[in-house]
Amino acid sequence: MSLGEFDLIARYFQRPAGTGPRRAIVGNGDDCAIIAPAAGMQLALSTDTLVEGRHFLSTVNPARLGHKALAVNLSDLAACGARPLGFTLALTLPRVDEAWLADFARGLLDLADEHDCELVGGDTTAGPLAIGITVFGEVPSGQALLRGGARAGDDIWLSGHPGEARLALEAFRGNLHPPLGSEAFEACRMAMECPDPRVALGEGLRGLASAAIDVSDGLLGDLGHILQRSRVGADLFADALPCSPWLLPRSRAEQLDCILAGGDDYELLFTAPPAHRAAIGVLGASLGLPLTRIGRTRAEPGRTIWPSGLDAAADGAPTDAGRGQPLPDRWASFDHFKAGA
Ligand code: ADP
Ligand code: MG
Repeated sequence: MSLGEFDLIARYFQRPAGTGPRRAIVGNGDDCAIIAPAAGMQLALSTDTLVEGRHFLSTVNPARLGHKALAVNLSDLAACGARPLGFTLALTLPRVDEAWLADFARGLLDLADEHDCELVGGDTTAGPLAIGITVFGEVPSGQALLRGGARAGDDIWLSGHPGEARLALEAFRGNLHPPLGSEAFEACRMAMECPDPRVALGEGLRGLASAAIDVSDGLLGDLGHILQRSRVGADLFADALPCSPWLLPRSRAEQLDCILAGGDDYELLFTAPPAHRAAIGVLGASLGLPLTRIGRTRAEPGRTIWPSGLDAAADGAPTDAGRGQPLPDRWASFDHFKAGA
């Protein structure tokens, strides 16, 4: 490496005095970062690694990669209702490319500053490109949003409109017929490469949501985690699913594949008692973020998708019984792209 390891760290990952958040008592540059937890708070910790070729394409813009590497971690804090405090960065680099490092660090640290999240340390080594981040945050004791808190009869809510990241991925793979127009492609590519972690929503949902998860692997798969932990089932309503404007011109099969099985969206999926509908509406409006009720949990296990009837069914069993379809454990068998349909 032309630039030495320590120079590289000092140049790109240690903040000059007076810049960036300062929360660690001893930050990067010592053997450990020393942090004082606040009274009455619990720490929330999460790790996510991005590996070239598996989680991102080698051609990705380095600033967007820096952003995404932290965003996927902040999304986990958001799903628990935790406020970000700091993170560590384990960076494996094939070579020292200073232009790349400068852009990567900018994308990473801009998002960190946006969320007042301090880079407190890390590790730097040579090898195939991989970015491991461990993020930590705080949540008032006992108030973390967990996957196991949903009760039968809760509403199921979704933020934003998932599916764009999957649409971009399929466009990259050349699987879309007709292909996306350039405006749609750029917008969906942005959703895939530069997701916006729903940190403020997660914090706002403390005391309102009964369970929450971030949609990283696809809505149905991630809903399955809530249902399993909470020991409930779910009715979803296809006509209530929010549809991105970029998905509107696609076939219904493509729309449902992208929305239900897309992945890489980093929206929040959460459950809440119907009594909290108005408060959740106010929260969404205050954040300028669409929050959509897409279904309801039920005592009977399994997942059923109904064409319509969310509100008609609000006080009891779905009214258009007979038209509901049980969802298989693996949505893959419905996968439009894999089926080549
Ligand atoms: P050690 O050998 O004691 O683990 P390192 O040489 O790995 O120390 O790191 C020296 C210091 O630089 C530590 O404080 C570490 O947290 C920090 N550091 C290393 N790599 C990074 C990085 N990619 N980003 C931020 N800080 C880093
Ligand atoms: Mg080390």
